[in-house]
Amino acid sequence: MKAYRQLDREKLLELKKELTQQFDEVKAKGLSLDMSRGKPGKDQLDLSMPMLDLVNAGSDMKCENGMDCRNYGVLDGIPEAKRLLSSMIDTDSEHVIVFGNSSLNIMFDTVSRCMLKGVLGSTPWCKLDKVKFLCPSPGYDRHFKVTEFFGIEMITVPMLPDGPDMDVVEELVSKDEAIKGIWCVPKYSNPQGYTYSDETVRRFANLKPAAKDFRIFWDNAYCVHHLYEEDQDSLLDIITECEKAGNPDLVLEFASTSKVSFPGAGVSVLAASKANLEEVKKYITTQTIGHDKINQLRHVRFFKDVEGIEEHMMKHAALIRPKFEAVLNTLDRELSGLDIGQWTKPKGGYFISFDSMEGCAKAIVAKTKEAGVVMTGAGATFPYGKDPKDSNIRIAPTLPSAQELALAAEIFVLSVKLVSVEKLLGEI
Ligand code: PMP
Repeated sequence: MKAYRQLDREKLLELKKELTQQFDEVKAKGLSLDMSRGKPGKDQLDLSMPMLDLVNAGSDMKCENGMDCRNYGVLDGIPEAKRLLSSMIDTDSEHVIVFGNSSLNIMFDTVSRCMLKGVLGSTPWCKLDKVKFLCPSPGYDRHFKVTEFFGIEMITVPMLPDGPDMDVVEELVSKDEAIKGIWCVPKYSNPQGYTYSDETVRRFANLKPAAKDFRIFWDNAYCVHHLYEEDQDSLLDIITECEKAGNPDLVLEFASTSKVSFPGAGVSVLAASKANLEEVKKYITTQTIGHDKINQLRHVRFFKDVEGIEEHMMKHAALIRPKFEAVLNTLDRELSGLDIGQWTKPKGGYFISFDSMEGCAKAIVAKTKEAGVVMTGAGATFPYGKDPKDSNIRIAPTLPSAQELALAAEIFVLSVKLVSVEKLLGEI
């Protein structure tokens, strides 16, 4: 098949007729499929069920320092959970605080604290005329919601295959004191599945921000989420790099076991320099008496160590790899050469990022919905939900069954084709 742009009007009209007929046929099936959020499938959740039997009525409830995990006590996590979670993100115990069930919650609280109290003695951000954040985009919609919630102005920075465009990042942060932070998903990014190169990580660690209270919000959500056993991305440890660069306080790193064990019932972690952690502890002492140590114990007893996590993640990979491949094969087979879309081929994470022709993403998502397939809303991957090119669509292949997914992918490519033809005909 020729690239659609090379077809004349007559051919396009013919094609539209054909595609509309195919679309009406699938629409008539009355399907209801969800490719909108990065949730694990039921089979993945089943992998962690034995964890629930490891801490029960007959269990020893003491952690390794003899503390009874059923009672109050320990603000920063039981020692073995600190060890497990710090090794998951390639750092060590003294750099972490173990929190509750959600890393997004830590990120929200962190921004909230900066707004109310500032950073290591700086003016609280809420007292400043303007506070800005850099938002490499496409990115994670919930990050953008957090900064939007606090009235922080968001500046879009282009994402490249080896991370955010660092020329832009360096230029902006060195000139503008109102820029206080940047959202990063450094490994298997949401939604492209890109991993920051060593050079990108080092450039981050060596930033010279005009604002002394600038922080890198390093959301390492997909740190162990490989799709392949052999072909894996690796990421430099930002905390070490910041120390080496003489900027130990520059970064705040977040992660959780949400997509390792149970989303919403995992364990989360904050990693940072000693000074940053001391400040955080000062505030969380007022906020909580302590997080859920029983869940920490359960996770440690189940995974044991980082090798245990890695082994477990390979079981996840075996379940979701065919789903990624099913979508990628359909995209390759149906759209290659048509010049109406581009997509990423991630080696890990939870998403595939698709870029349609400009001005088509919203219409494509609406079209798939007509046929019963819910996708993430177009625009969600950009600050304020506004994709300036209206072209990015996030595909989340993990939740539907393999069979459903094959069908959903067919509907997606059909919608892409149909909307692209309508665009070229000047109808949208
Ligand atoms: N960060 C990113 C990049 C994510 O994709 C997600 C989950 N979709 C989260 C954070 C949320 O993590 P948690 O469940 O730990 O709040």
